[in-house]
Amino acid sequence: MLTPRFRGLVGCWAMVGLSLAIPPALGQETEAERRVLLEATPSEAAPSRPAFAPDAWAGAREAMVRDHIVARGLDDPAVLAAMRRVPRHRFAPEVAPRRAYRDEPQPIGHGQTISQPYIVALMTARLGLEPDDRVLEVGTGSGYQAAILAEIVREVVTLEIIPALAVQAAERLEALGYTNVTVLEGDGYYGDPARAPFDAVIVTAGARHVPPPLVAQLRPGGRMVIPVGQMLWVQNLLLLEKAADGEIRTRNLASVRFVPLTGGH
Ligand code: SAH
Repeated sequence: MLTPRFRGLVGCWAMVGLSLAIPPALGQETEAERRVLLEATPSEAAPSRPAFAPDAWAGAREAMVRDHIVARGLDDPAVLAAMRRVPRHRFAPEVAPRRAYRDEPQPIGHGQTISQPYIVALMTARLGLEPDDRVLEVGTGSGYQAAILAEIVREVVTLEIIPALAVQAAERLEALGYTNVTVLEGDGYYGDPARAPFDAVIVTAGARHVPPPLVAQLRPGGRMVIPVGQMLWVQNLLLLEKAADGEIRTRNLASVRFVPLTGGH
């Protein structure tokens, strides 16, 4: 099963070669190398979602949604349905399954964490997603947020900078049965110009500033949710909306603590 996953390497070198010859347009930098670990199967129809076998944790998921998400005022039906379906404990294998459903972030190895369920739900809800959307995620981590998105939209492209996490997330999402997620290993600061534009962009690591390449890769009318702060570990969760004329409106949604966005920028 490994061979098809490395197809992307070829495309990647082609892109690097091209960028030497032609200066990239503003916000369309292509110097970042991206390795394809899992590739979404394109489909005109709605993607088929995994048929999860019943497990022992449906009650824990229900309680998580009721007590930590609905109780805080989120009521987007598509987001709640996704949070009830995706087996969160499978994305945090280092912790006991019950703990995975608590109102707290969970460790996923390499010093990284999956966000608290409420923050995952809040960020997803504020993207205002439609079933036909294509979404870019920066910071795949365990793949949990990508799975939540994949339950709601047509296609998800997700970028992870730590190779071992990227490989694990790709294997996990494939094993769970997601066919509409592309997992790329690379520096998400530069997004994925080859697959742009996106209807929505979600960044799940704390940035010092909003990466211009990600703004450029958002379609007019699109939305981005991103934690931004000058201090390590403290950020404002920002919602950016790109108007039809390209103008950006920004709103602060909450104060949050995310692991830092790293990389070469
Ligand atoms: N969304 C993830 C959790 C994200 S934790 C989940 O659902 O599990 C933040 C992740 O962002 C970490 O895995 C970290 O390695 C990754 N990251 C940090 N800087 C990055 C960058 N420049 N490009 C891509 N990923 C990055």
